[in-house]
Amino acid sequence: MIGDQDLERYSRQLLVPGFDFEAQQALGDAAVLIVGCGGLGCPVALYLAAAGVGSLRLVDDDKIEHSNLPRQIAYTEHDVGKYKADMLRDALKARNSAVNVQSVIGRFNDETALGLLDGVQMVVDASDSRATRALIDSYTARLGLPWVMGAAVQMSGQNMVFDAMRKYGCYHCIAPENTDVGGSCTELGILGPAVGAVAMTQALDVIKLLSGCGQPAFGSLRIRDFRRDESYLLSVEKRGDCAVCGEEK
Ligand SMILES: [Zn+2]
Repeated sequence: MIGDQDLERYSRQLLVPGFDFEAQQALGDAAVLIVGCGGLGCPVALYLAAAGVGSLRLVDDDKIEHSNLPRQIAYTEHDVGKYKADMLRDALKARNSAVNVQSVIGRFNDETALGLLDGVQMVVDASDSRATRALIDSYTARLGLPWVMGAAVQMSGQNMVFDAMRKYGCYHCIAPENTDVGGSCTELGILGPAVGAVAMTQALDVIKLLSGCGQPAFGSLRIRDFRRDESYLLSVEKRGDCAVCGEEK
């Protein structure tokens, strides 16, 4: 139940039309898995914890480096050399002690997927890996869970939300080949606010999905060009022969 302290804490979001006590309660009751605690995972987790999402499970096997600090904004210079998942958990708990945060030092793969997905309502892909996205897509499709994709490199980004039943298609519909396209931020570079903007859209989409306040752009891939300050939606077709969601598979 929402107590007096929570009423004050969440008063500004409770003023938003369509975001009522039930919406706040839905956030509080929810459990979300965040795969990756880097440039996407840090802002997404900070905002979801601050908004009152009840349980967050963080998974990452990396340690913090100095080169992470311009965009992985939950971390301080003192955190360098420590595990990201643990330091992000501590940062979230310091900001909202009521949130239940679990840190897992590991990766999302065939061995760990079902355990990591146990008890969660949705997944945030903050992984920076096409192979991981494909795995998240397969496992969440099987379990009937939605997931929220985000990707950013240099001064560009992409967002997409996949509904639980894949009525609007799935990640395999748009990226059927199991190959990594392009390069990583390590090779190509990234500006912090660019990945931050993609992460904010992810956080907003999670809040929309959980609360029912607003609706994500299902079936559309949002492409963002921050260099030219342009953004557009690409309609994605559900493929009948898709190995994950197709009816003819
Ligand atoms: Zn599909």
